[in-house]
Amino acid sequence: MHEWLVTACGPQHWWPANTPFEVILGAYLTQNTAWKAVERSLDNLKRAGALTLEGIRALPVERLRELIRPSGFVTRKAPAIKAFVALVDDQFAGSLKNMAATPADPLRARLLALPGVGPETADAILLYAFGKAVPVADEYLRRIAERHRLLSPAPSHNRKGYDALTRLTRGAFASDPPASHAGLYNEFHALVVAVGKAHCGRKANCDGCPLAGDLRRDADQKP
Ligand code: SF4
Repeated sequence: MHEWLVTACGPQHWWPANTPFEVILGAYLTQNTAWKAVERSLDNLKRAGALTLEGIRALPVERLRELIRPSGFVTRKAPAIKAFVALVDDQFAGSLKNMAATPADPLRARLLALPGVGPETADAILLYAFGKAVPVADEYLRRIAERHRLLSPAPSHNRKGYDALTRLTRGAFASDPPASHAGLYNEFHALVVAVGKAHCGRKANCDGCPLAGDLRRDADQKP
């Protein structure tokens, strides 16, 4: 299915950001929010000179709330972003490079201990900001996996359901060389979002979907 998506959609060039810190801000801001709204918040931060670790560190939380207002949930997101910067300062000597040099598992545990960070946000940061070989799962992948009967239905936002999806992704790429996993996970998640947005929303629109062949094959194999 990944290969079909690569053929149909081409390279996705994710994450849409210029620096690792922009990726991190985007990962927080996009929670329950469309990317267009995130872009407006990032533009506000850029104009305020706050698209960097130093910039966010210097901003009072009230001002941060104003700047990220287009992304919504500001009473949760602004303190959460501040808590991330405090973690970098307190445990990584104020350096994202030190953070990036930490192995994925302990770093994931520290991210998950932060307020406002669930597995999807933690994994997006690990993969797209720090280049760790960590798959990202989301609602689109859950829908696709369930609709293609790769997993049995689980309640959304359920931790076990999330872990099952990342296990499925790891399994799908297990025979590829480990050094290629970060690149594959990067592209795969981007492709899942692309096909999810275009076809696999709350209601599946399978006409013209690059993955429709898999559903047809599944139906053909039924007794
Ligand atoms: S739209 Fe249909 S074919 Fe496409 S991923 Fe969703 S269920 Fe599969």
